Amino acid sequence: MKGVAVLGATGSIGASAASVLERHADRFRVVALTGYRNVRRLAELERRLHPEQVVLVDDGVDAPSHWQSGREALLAAAERPDVDIVINAVVGAAGLEATLVALEAGKRLALANKESLVAGGPLVLAARERGGGELVPVDSEHSAILQCLQGAGDAEVRRLILTASGGAFRDWDLADLQGALPEHALQHPTWSMGAKITVDSATMANKALEVIEAHFLFGVFYEQVEVALHPQSIIHSMVEFVDGSVLAQVGFPTMELPVLYALTHPERLPDDGRRFDPVTASPLTFEALDPERYPTFALGVEAGRAGGTAPATFNAANEEAVSAFLERRLSFPGIADAIRHALDTVEVRPADSLAAVRRADAQAREAARTLIEQIS
Ligand code: NDP
Ligand code: MG
Repeated sequence: MKGVAVLGATGSIGASAASVLERHADRFRVVALTGYRNVRRLAELERRLHPEQVVLVDDGVDAPSHWQSGREALLAAAERPDVDIVINAVVGAAGLEATLVALEAGKRLALANKESLVAGGPLVLAARERGGGELVPVDSEHSAILQCLQGAGDAEVRRLILTASGGAFRDWDLADLQGALPEHALQHPTWSMGAKITVDSATMANKALEVIEAHFLFGVFYEQVEVALHPQSIIHSMVEFVDGSVLAQVGFPTMELPVLYALTHPERLPDDGRRFDPVTASPLTFEALDPERYPTFALGVEAGRAGGTAPATFNAANEEAVSAFLERRLSFPGIADAIRHALDTVEVRPADSLAAVRRADAQAREAARTLIEQIS
């Protein structure tokens, strides 16, 4: 029996995690659940999963008296001695400290919260080194790559190919993007996810975050990571080896499989998810990414290559811009403008302390907000 803490349990990944944990209750015991402010959903999960600890991070919300509240309680849940695996499904850079705490405490970290690895990559790797924790991706592309890499030596890998659906505006006329609204952006063609990552898919900020995530997770150079548009979201990513052989991981889109694999890697558990059928899945097509449609992608990859605190700046500016877009304070193309402004203004420093990352994060949000106020 492994003890599991689910951070960000009230969200979309949290829902996938709850289903997986319920189905495999003979293997996993839910020890702690956290949410930010969704009391109803958290109470429902408590009834289903019977955790010992429930945390609502926002302490300004009325909650049952046996729950805990505040950020400290969230971090405490991530390092409980009876927790073996921490699923970090918090959204945004707000998940960074929990990532660090779980790895420092030697846990297996099933990481959905890619923003923590993007913002604080060097800190995350150092925390893993110090604490002896394990970092296993939940992101479907990285789960696919991890599965393709089983049994391979580092020197055998030539290239990683991340696939991308292209998001809600893949087929829109470029001229119409100025008028794109949150309700349009939230119509993802193949995946059902939280609002922030769904907008990130429409801008391809998500794919830039994933390129940076791959760099840190798999220790590859940026030159070794490529992206191909794959509208059907059936091939979750590919690895090209030095002999030219390419392995892909394939399946209908569901986050339950990557969540389960992150819990059991390198083993597999029998599971009764939807079975794959190549005929129903056909045809599978691939396209190059159009840089004019997705300017945010190049900004993110440039930030990754610049290193230091640049990815933290990119990530924080993106979070601010996406919130502004969702609140109708910013146009869809304005998201890229706000990020560009932050990257142009905020100085890049070494990402060698939590304080350095937090400073870049705060400066980036400030810069993005200034531009958003100017242009809206
Ligand atoms: P959701 O918006 O659905 O859920 C976010 C979760 O984080 C909720 O539990 C929310 O609580 C909690 N939360 C929000 N703000 C804070 C905060 N400041 N401190 C602590 N907790 C907070 O997001 P998703 O589930 O879609 O995504 C979660 C992460 O997983 C993201 O990093 C995303 O990029 C990644 N991911 C998601 C995929 C998906 O299919 N959804 C696929 C691959 C990666 P509450 O609801 O109570 O407010
Ligand atoms: Mg992904």
